Amino acid sequence: MSLKDKQIDSTHAKEIRLRGLVASPGIAIGRCFKHDNAPHTITKQQIEADQVDTEINRLQNAIASARKELEQIHDEADSSVGNQLAKIFEAQLLILDDKAFFEAVCNDIAKFKLNAEYVYNRHLQRTLTSLRKSQDSYLKEMANDINATAAKVFGYLIGHHVNKLSNNDGKIALAEDFSPGEVVLMGKYHIPGFATSMGGQTSHMTLIAKSLSIPGVVGVSKLLEKIPDNATTIIDGENGWVIVNPEKATLEEYKEEQKRRRTVIAKQLRGIGKIPSTTSDGREIAVMANLEIPTDVDEILASNKVGVGLYRTEFFYLTRMKFPTEDEQAKIYANIARTFFPNPVTLRVYDLGSDKVVGDYRDSEDVNPALGWRGIRLDLDMPDIFKTQIRAILRASTNKNVKIMLPMVSTAMELVKAKRILHSAMKELHAEGIPFDENIDIGIMIEVPSAALMANELARHVCFFSIGTNDLVQYTLAADRGNKKVAGLYRELHPAVLKLIKMTIDAGKTHNVPVTLCGEMASRIEAIPLLVGLGLDGFSVVPPRVARVKKLIAELDYSECRVLAERIMKLATTEKVEAVLNNWIEAHVSKEFVED
Ligand code: PEP
Ligand code: MG
Repeated sequence: MSLKDKQIDSTHAKEIRLRGLVASPGIAIGRCFKHDNAPHTITKQQIEADQVDTEINRLQNAIASARKELEQIHDEADSSVGNQLAKIFEAQLLILDDKAFFEAVCNDIAKFKLNAEYVYNRHLQRTLTSLRKSQDSYLKEMANDINATAAKVFGYLIGHHVNKLSNNDGKIALAEDFSPGEVVLMGKYHIPGFATSMGGQTSHMTLIAKSLSIPGVVGVSKLLEKIPDNATTIIDGENGWVIVNPEKATLEEYKEEQKRRRTVIAKQLRGIGKIPSTTSDGREIAVMANLEIPTDVDEILASNKVGVGLYRTEFFYLTRMKFPTEDEQAKIYANIARTFFPNPVTLRVYDLGSDKVVGDYRDSEDVNPALGWRGIRLDLDMPDIFKTQIRAILRASTNKNVKIMLPMVSTAMELVKAKRILHSAMKELHAEGIPFDENIDIGIMIEVPSAALMANELARHVCFFSIGTNDLVQYTLAADRGNKKVAGLYRELHPAVLKLIKMTIDAGKTHNVPVTLCGEMASRIEAIPLLVGLGLDGFSVVPPRVARVKKLIAELDYSECRVLAERIMKLATTEKVEAVLNNWIEAHVSKEFVED
């Protein structure tokens, strides 16, 4: 029996199985700890007039200590996960430097003769209340950052400052939520896995966890109430379970499973360059990687002939909350292009907005951010920033292995406008005598139903399509990708989604435009034969999934997959689609994949 199908044995009170959503694949086993990012208890104390200076000094010292700690975290992150992600902490340091805020607190300490932590907290809560009420994910994320930074200041003021992440080296981390910065530190502190009660499957925190290969489960109800500190815990990041106090048999089973999987990505990938990129009957299908930041895995992927199907360049903004300059970007992109040469690198231009916070560029009136100012809409409305990025990408394209991809295209006009900017950037570079790939491929993400429905028209203007199911599913089924209350409606195998995927692939065939798929669906075992049968040309998946997807495709027979796809496309419900696909997988591929 596979772990996925294992029945919950309710007769054993000690073993608790909590259901969550898969955030980052893999299995972690260990003692757990609750990462305490809960606020400190702040008391109100009246002080004497002659104590005002002492209070202000205390506050100053606490801020200085918090600053020192953050600087250390920044340096550690810089050496372990790289300069880009370390920028997160620079943003937190800026919060400590807010002079106006500091002065307002000092004035109130003097005016009301109250203790520093109380006044600091009162000002803090005022700022946070309005941020937290907002629907805007940028403001919410900003509130998290301010809160995390202030918690350090309170820790020093109150005198029981503990950095629980570093003190719990090697243990599984549980919390209501983690910031992307905390996930970065998990790598540093050898945290083997994590679970949260909040958080969507496609949040930035989970994207970074995937990049760093830290298994995680999110959206686990009552997580912190149900799990005692230090309990043996299993994070099943493959099937979305958090198992506490596992019975001996469960533990053994997972240990076995973990042993089987523990072969790190490097090992998984070793030799996959030798596996043909074809089905067993010879249809060529590319398997590429989705990346967000440069990591050690890049070299391994590249040397195993793995290209990049989706590079989320917005992370170069998100990790520093400001846009890198043209020179900085040109350097970053050129390094990526060089590392992966001769394999292709698909650089997606900034896909900001909605769940990807946009700093000063957010639209405060955007009450429905997923349908608002995001992706290509935002790029086109910020032509200077957009052209700077395009120029940087072009400058990195001299080896001719770079492609440009546009996110969230919903009308042909956006594509036309983006191409105008591309051509203007090309003209400028020409005039400046800067070399670039004159025939650089430009393609679009198909992640809005209108784009899939108009794929025949859009195909005339592009060199490739990449289907972004993470968004396509949410827009087709009107089910927010990050909202766990509607997670049951978010179904990649819904016939409506499949119809749009088929439409896109068919349009690609008609116009000789290759079609790949880079949403999370590309690594779902049961979806792969169907997508192959529909005629998909390539898959782009997170690095830990590359080897598995490539191996599965090498086992498939394209003609059999086509018959399967024909059958599936006649089905009317997700349940029927899933049942047929699961049965097909059991009957047609190695046990290794069936049990996944
Ligand atoms: C997608 O929408 O499927 C996709 C790959 O883009 P992102 O997850 O970055 O929105
Ligand atoms: Mg998307």
